[in-house]
Amino acid sequence: MGPEYKNGNVISRCPDCNGAVSTYEYKGASSGEYGTIVVDENHLYNDINYGRVIYKLYKCAGCGRGGMAKLHLNGALHEGKMEWFFPISIDSAQIPDDVPHGIVQEYREAEICAANNAWRGASGLLRSTLEKVLKENGYKNGNLASKIDAAASDGIITESRKKKAHDDIRVLGNDVLHDEWRKISPEDVAASHRYVQRIIEDFYDDRESVVKILKDKKRIE
Ligand SMILES: [Zn+2]
Repeated sequence: MGPEYKNGNVISRCPDCNGAVSTYEYKGASSGEYGTIVVDENHLYNDINYGRVIYKLYKCAGCGRGGMAKLHLNGALHEGKMEWFFPISIDSAQIPDDVPHGIVQEYREAEICAANNAWRGASGLLRSTLEKVLKENGYKNGNLASKIDAAASDGIITESRKKKAHDDIRVLGNDVLHDEWRKISPEDVAASHRYVQRIIEDFYDDRESVVKILKDKKRIE
């Protein structure tokens, strides 16, 4: 999830290569490096001291479009840490076609947050997506925890999925919404993103069978 800094180049999805993963290179075979702005300044980034910030120009090896990265450096370029990369690429998960609009929009906005390193925003919206899926399917009573449990006891989500829904989506989102500020990692968001997708599939992949269960259980009419 998100662009990766590797040997001075950036591996990222390219919007002009139809979202395919591409290598953005900082130098061409004949042209040399494309360009760098250097800011010499001692600073902290992710609790580590750096002496230099550089803004670097890149070129997509596939289509030739430009990109720019902000890097924190002490020594060699290859050892730098990347803070952000433009163009922003969105890791968009496949979801079934007939998922209701509001659920799709909430999920896609979480992906936009993640693409912009807004990990807390993404976590909150993923939790909200899960709650919307459950409400839309008739799980209207109680808090989110009891809605998840009800969907599992109806057999729509498995026991292992129930555990993921609690641990990786609900609790993470609750931390963001209700607890003291803390840093949320990209890995936490990636797990939540993955399991929301799976739960959306649980409800909408084989929609006919799910609707039958929901009606049997008097969740929907
Ligand atoms: Zn490209």
